[in-house]
Amino acid sequence: MSSSALLAFALFATTLQPYEAVEPHMGTLFRIKLYAASEQQAQQAFRAAFARIAQLDDELSDYKPDSELNRLARSAVKRPQPASEDLVRVVGAAEQLSEKTDGAFDITIGPLTHLWRAAVKVHQLPSAEAIAAARAKCGFRKLHVNLQAHTICFDESGMQLDAGAIAKGDAADQALFVLKQLGIQSALVAASGDLAFSDAPPGEAGWKIGVDSLDRADAPFTRVLLLANGAVSTSGPSEQHLDINGVRYSHIIDPRTGMGLTRDLTVTVIAAHGLAADPLATALSVLGPERGLALIDSIPGAAALVVQDENGRHTLSKSKRFPTVEQ
Ligand code: ADP
Ligand code: MG
Repeated sequence: MSSSALLAFALFATTLQPYEAVEPHMGTLFRIKLYAASEQQAQQAFRAAFARIAQLDDELSDYKPDSELNRLARSAVKRPQPASEDLVRVVGAAEQLSEKTDGAFDITIGPLTHLWRAAVKVHQLPSAEAIAAARAKCGFRKLHVNLQAHTICFDESGMQLDAGAIAKGDAADQALFVLKQLGIQSALVAASGDLAFSDAPPGEAGWKIGVDSLDRADAPFTRVLLLANGAVSTSGPSEQHLDINGVRYSHIIDPRTGMGLTRDLTVTVIAAHGLAADPLATALSVLGPERGLALIDSIPGAAALVVQDENGRHTLSKSKRFPTVEQ
């Protein structure tokens, strides 16, 4: 590079400015932070990224009766039907995680999540009969994704997919991809507990990501990690729980029992992509620290932290690769 070209490059690099925008999608707020050369470039990038997230919501939502996800559950019973690249990517990743977790993570959990959502509304536990009936309609082994042929097939009618524990992480990845195509190298997309980010902000070592920690006290405090080109997802107590007779049932369901989880865990997972981190955080909530962290240790590039709250007594467990250095 000639010295004048170097100077021009240096000027360009230093003129990147931070921009931020927020929009509601997928039942939550998506926040995008990015570094762009101009207001115009930033606004164009925001529009494209949010449009991509909206498209994914139209495809993957289980709240929208005519989403591709819901249409396929009706039309692809006992006969494979063509599915979009987005659906095949997300449902295919979910199916693989079901295999790895023995079904602790299960995207076919729709009949049970719908039952529990109705239970939260009327503030009453679902009956044992209703849970048994819903469980009979769940099970990832009755779902078939063909990654080569781009088809999806269900063994039975009445099955329902719920991408609630994986779609936000994937949408964050896809938004970053769109931003990169528009020349934005440094961005962070956050959908409540699901974050994905590309290169570090100009001149910095990483994006500052706060995670629960217990290292210095017996109550969690926030430790800041500096990370780039990856994803962080947190699953934990949400507003959607059901409190009955002093027991709190989580919106995360154990597919083996059909019941909302009653153990108070907050799980943070670091992985290369949101498509991995988001469902892993949910899977670890179901598996618990011991089995969950063993799974994380077996996945290259993944790390996790689990904080368990037992009546105010907190215990923390970490996977082998969880960053320990205070940044
Ligand atoms: P949040 O959506 O609150 O960030 P999660 O990523 O953990 O939290 O996703 C929870 C959602 O995933 C639930 O609301 C439900 O729609 C769905 N879900 C619940 N239990 C399971 C499970 N065992 N496997 C896959 N998805 C689940
Ligand atoms: Mg999740």
